[in-house]
Amino acid sequence: MEGDEKALMREQAFVGGGWIDAPDNDRRAVSDPATEQVIGHAPELQSTHIEEAINAASRAFVTWRCTSCVERANKLLAWYEGMQEHAETLARLMTLEQGKPLAEARGEVDYAASFLRWFAEEARRATGETIPPEDPAFAIGTTRQPVGVAAIITPWNFPLAMITRKVGAALAAGCTTLINPASQTPFSALALAVLAERAGLTNGEFNVVTCSGKRFSETVCADDRVRALSFTGSTQVGRQLLRQSADTVKCTAMELGGNAPFIVCDDVDLETAVDGAIAAKFQTSGQDCVAANRIFVHRSLYEDFLKRFAERMNAMSVGNGFNEDNEIGPLINRDAIEKAQALVDDARNKGARIIGRDQDGAPGPQFFMPTLVADFNTEMRVSVEEAFAPVAAICAFDDDDEVIMAANDTIYGLASYVYTHDDARIRKFLRELECGMVGVNTMDITGPHVPFGGVKQSGLGREGAHAGMEEYLETQYYCIGNGPRPER
Ligand code: NAP
Repeated sequence: MEGDEKALMREQAFVGGGWIDAPDNDRRAVSDPATEQVIGHAPELQSTHIEEAINAASRAFVTWRCTSCVERANKLLAWYEGMQEHAETLARLMTLEQGKPLAEARGEVDYAASFLRWFAEEARRATGETIPPEDPAFAIGTTRQPVGVAAIITPWNFPLAMITRKVGAALAAGCTTLINPASQTPFSALALAVLAERAGLTNGEFNVVTCSGKRFSETVCADDRVRALSFTGSTQVGRQLLRQSADTVKCTAMELGGNAPFIVCDDVDLETAVDGAIAAKFQTSGQDCVAANRIFVHRSLYEDFLKRFAERMNAMSVGNGFNEDNEIGPLINRDAIEKAQALVDDARNKGARIIGRDQDGAPGPQFFMPTLVADFNTEMRVSVEEAFAPVAAICAFDDDDEVIMAANDTIYGLASYVYTHDDARIRKFLRELECGMVGVNTMDITGPHVPFGGVKQSGLGREGAHAGMEEYLETQYYCIGNGPRPER
C-alpha cells in the first residue's frame, strides 16, 4: 500500500477532531472477504472513549447549531470534493474490506458523495412557517431546530453511502454526529474521517467510534445528551435499539430489512424484465436490502423467463472484486455462505427446482455461486427470510389480486418492483402494495433526491430527499405577544 491509499487507510478512531487508539492497543482484525487475509486493525474503543466522543459532540453542538447554514454547506461541499478527488482510492479500499466488485465500489463512492452535495444544498431549506394568529396583534410561526447529538450505526453492505446519507442530513440540519461503522468495514468510515478532517470538520462535529455495535448502542442509548439514534441494519437489531432508546426517549430513524417482491406481468418485454430482475437480484452480490428477494412471474411467461434468467445468471463471473471482469464478489463472511446454502437446501427439500452451477466451483470459501430456486412457495425459508446472497427465488402467478396478496404476505415493506405497461394496473399496484418504495419498469430507484425508507417492520423514517433532513429537525413554535411596553 502506498501514497494515497496509505494516507486514507487509518487504523485509529476519530474522536473530537483527533485520532485515538484503544487502551492497551486493543484492536480488531479486519479481513478481505475474497482472500480471508487480514488487511488491518481497527481500535476496539471502550465505553469511556464513547463517552469522550459524546462529550466532544455535545460541545461541538453548541457552536455547530449556530453556524450559518452557508458555512455548514461549504464544509459539506469541501468534503464532497475530497471524496471526488480520492474516489478511486475510496473504491479500492471498499473492495478490499467489503469485497464488492470494483465497478460497484466506484458507483457507491459516487452515490455516497452525492448525499453530501445534496444535503449541502438542503442546508438552506430548513424552513418554518408563519401561522395566521387569531389575534392580529400576535405573531405566530415555527422554526426548525436541530435535534442535537445524533448517534449513527451503519452496516457493512454499503460502507460509505449508509454513512453519508445520514451524516449529510444531520450536519446540514445543525446536529453533530457519532458514527459506529460495522466491524467488518471500519476503514471506509475512517477514510471518510480523513477527508472530513481535511474539509474542516475538526471540532467534534463528526466522530468515528470503532467498537462493537452492542457496546456503542448501550452507551449512547443510556446518555440523555444523545438525542437521536439512526440505524441501518437488520430488523432484529432495530427492534432492540428501539427498546434501548425508550428510556431516554430519543428520536429514532430505522432503515431495516426487506423482502422485496419483483412482479413481472404478462404484457412486458421478456428481455427487459429479465435484465431488471438480474440487476435487482445480484447487485452487491445479493447483499442489498432492496434486492429482489421474491420474483413473481406471470404463468404465461414463466418457463421462458426461468430459462433466460438462468442463462444470464450462469454467465455471470464470480471472483475477486479487483478483477474487473467479475460481477459477483465474495459474501461478507462464512456465516453468510452457510445461510445461503441452508436456504437452498430447505427449498430443495420442500420441492423447489434448483438451477445453477456447482458450489464446488466457487473460487473460495466466501464465494457462493448464483443459484435459482424455481417454484418457491410460502412454506420455504426463501419466501420469508432475506437471502442477502445471490440466491434468486422465482414462482409463477395467475392474476394481479393473487400476486399482490402474496407480495404483501411479509413483515417487511421496503421496496417493490412491478413490470407492466398497463396504466390501470400500475395504479392498482401503487395503491395496494404495502411498501415504502415502488420501481415501475425499473429497478434503479435510489439517489440523493428520493425519500428512501420502508413501512411495516422495514423501518421508521426516510433518508435522502428533503425528508431525510426532517429526521434531524424538531419544530419549535413561537408566539410573540403584543403586551404594553413599560413606561419610560
Ligand atoms: P446487523 O446485524 O443488524 O448489523 C448492522 C449493524 O448493527 C452493524 O454495524 C453491527 O455492528 C450493528 N449491531 C449488531 N448488533 C448490535 C446490537 N446489539 N446493538 C447495536 N448495534 C448492533 O445487520 P447485518 O445482517 O450485518 O446487515 C444486513 C441487514 O441490514 C439486512 O437485514 C438489511 O436488509 C439491512 N439493511 C437495511 C438497509 C436499509 O436502508 N433499509 C440498508 C442496508 C442494510 P457490529 O459491527 O458490532 O456487528
